[in-house]
Amino acid sequence: MQELTRAALDLFDETGNLDDFLQHMATRLGCLVVLWLEQSPEGAVRLLGSAGLSRTSRALPLTTQTEAGPERAQAVVHWGTVDLPYPELTTSSLTVWQFPFQLVLEGGLPSEFLLFFESSRPLFPQYFGLVKRLLRVAEKALDHRRLDARLRESEHRLSEQMLLLEYENEATLDGILIVSADGRIVSHNRRLLELWGLTPDEVRRGGSARTLLPMAAQHVREPARFFGLVRKLLSAPEGTFADALTLRDGRGLELFSAPLLDQERRVFGRGWYFRDITQRKQAEAERAGLLAREQAARQAAESARQRSSFLAEASRRLAGHLDADKALAQATALAVSFLSDWCVALLVEDDALCVRAAAHRSPEGVEQVGALRQLRVPLDVPEGAPLVAHTGRSALVRGEETTVLPLAPLGLREPAHLALLSELGVAAWLSVPLVARGRTLGVLTLVSTLGTHRWSAEDVELVENLAARMALAVDNARLYEEAQRAIRVRDEFLSVAAHELFTPLTSLRLTVQGLQRGAEAPPSPAVLRIVDRQTQKLMRLVSELLDTSQLRTGRLGLHLEDVDLGQVVREVAEQLGPELERTGTSLTLDVAPDVVGRWDRLRLEQVVQNLLSNAAKYGERKPVELRVLADAGLARLVVMDHGMGIPPEDQERIFAPFERAISSRHFGGLGLGLYIVQRIVQQLGGNIRLLSEPGQGSTFVVELPRTSLPSSREPPPEAARQLH
Ligand code: ADP
Repeated sequence: MQELTRAALDLFDETGNLDDFLQHMATRLGCLVVLWLEQSPEGAVRLLGSAGLSRTSRALPLTTQTEAGPERAQAVVHWGTVDLPYPELTTSSLTVWQFPFQLVLEGGLPSEFLLFFESSRPLFPQYFGLVKRLLRVAEKALDHRRLDARLRESEHRLSEQMLLLEYENEATLDGILIVSADGRIVSHNRRLLELWGLTPDEVRRGGSARTLLPMAAQHVREPARFFGLVRKLLSAPEGTFADALTLRDGRGLELFSAPLLDQERRVFGRGWYFRDITQRKQAEAERAGLLAREQAARQAAESARQRSSFLAEASRRLAGHLDADKALAQATALAVSFLSDWCVALLVEDDALCVRAAAHRSPEGVEQVGALRQLRVPLDVPEGAPLVAHTGRSALVRGEETTVLPLAPLGLREPAHLALLSELGVAAWLSVPLVARGRTLGVLTLVSTLGTHRWSAEDVELVENLAARMALAVDNARLYEEAQRAIRVRDEFLSVAAHELFTPLTSLRLTVQGLQRGAEAPPSPAVLRIVDRQTQKLMRLVSELLDTSQLRTGRLGLHLEDVDLGQVVREVAEQLGPELERTGTSLTLDVAPDVVGRWDRLRLEQVVQNLLSNAAKYGERKPVELRVLADAGLARLVVMDHGMGIPPEDQERIFAPFERAISSRHFGGLGLGLYIVQRIVQQLGGNIRLLSEPGQGSTFVVELPRTSLPSSREPPPEAARQLH
């Protein structure tokens, strides 16, 4: 029995053979056959081990008694309902000992050991208990072996998985550090060392998170924050944290830390995961930059679209008016809809800027701003709109940026006007000149009452564009007005010219008819004088027309020679003697001797004739003085009358063709005399001035250079502008 027990104990060892044990058992106990059978709950039976059976017997199938078959007849021994078809058991008399054999690990399937003895060679019954204990040992041994095998297998699988995990950890781009609950470094991957610039030795030597963290901290840009974060983690072992760090070399690290929990959800360590996000951050920054650029481009395109549609609208509105004031009103209304709180447009008139249009964004402000209309600001005020008109440059003034009084946008200084401005509100203003064809026609001033309009460089450009369109509209309106006026003047001139030509022609015709009636009688001297005078009048009118048409296209042909101005004056005075007599005008001559120059004699006669006959015509029968003075270089002709005089507003105009300061009903004339006189004088290099006061008379002063060559400078043909 001792030997059998040793054999059973051998089964603990994995080299111990079950069949050997069974064979041993059969031999030592004197068994004919030993069977180890197992039956599943479904009834399937398996022979797990045997001794005393041939190989053929061991291969025989095991069936239950219900399945009748040819083998059935041979089976004489049964295990429950199972036939045991082994020929080794066909001996006539058999004794069987049955022992349950329950292995724990094999899914708890019931099995039994059957020991067959020949009845003639029985075993002592007291051996039954010993065999039972022996099989208990075998039971334990087999269970142990299987358990051992399974343990080895799971160890093997575990080490495989650990290896896999290690590979995974190494393959990942994240740095991983696993720390036990008491702070020991359990594992880390190579990437962690790369990210933190640590050597494996340093980690090994450090051994714990407490020594490793300060080493890492020296690479961090904000170590204090890093330590703060670590402290926070240590104080909350179950906490999960995510943060980002910047290293001294500029790299960005994303940090994630989470506790490691066992199946009972107890913390047994902590995992730290670090990821290099430098490239991601760069990409994000680039994306953000691109986005910002794209948004800026989109915004720029949108504001460009708004600006161009604003300008298109401005052009549309301005084009609709040939009246300057209406055009300005449209433009200022548009400017307050988009660019300012209130605004005014001023035009240069004489030596002042006059407010011609004003607009306000709010209906309440419209009346207030309306009070500015027609206000005049002298052009020489050195601030605000007058200064802009003077310099021709835009001005942008914001209250907080300058010491310039913000109330100065218009250059107004009267206390009442300043009060009005402060009521309207002025926090910032923008003034741009209205320039067309190189001339400053006025100023557009935009005002922001609360400083909400900042006016960027693009805004200033936009307002300048608007101002350019406004100036063009004003210029066009003025040209149109001038053209209309020129047409009126021309129509008037045609009727005056017809009338002027008709008068001497009628007189001539009547004289000719009188002569015809007087048959062959010779004409009287008086009749001949009439004919002569009317013919001269006709000739003068026609030659004025010819001269004018010649001047419109260029210059008069001059024939220069030495001419004595005094002599010319005396001759003309004599020629016009009858006319002076008829108008009752007395003439005083004061002529210096030898005022000789290089002039055109006939044209000079024309000048004196025109000025003297005008003095007789408009002199109201009062005395006329004719003076000729000279110095070395200059000859001066003065024609002075004491008649009706010329109003200041007409004094420049009357030198233009067809311009007259009196009604054609009272005084004949084509309005061409002074125009031709001025052009002759200019062609001779001189000038003509007029001094006159209404009711006091007029003095025309002609200055001619005596020696210098006639001027080649000449104003453009006036009539071209006036008559087209
Ligand atoms: P016309 O005498 O044919 O009208 P002018 O060109 O000679 O044309 O003169 C233009 C206008 O100037 C005149 O119509 C008149 O109104 C004004 N004028 C010219 N000379 C005098 C003067 N001596 N006194 C007042 N008015 C004058």
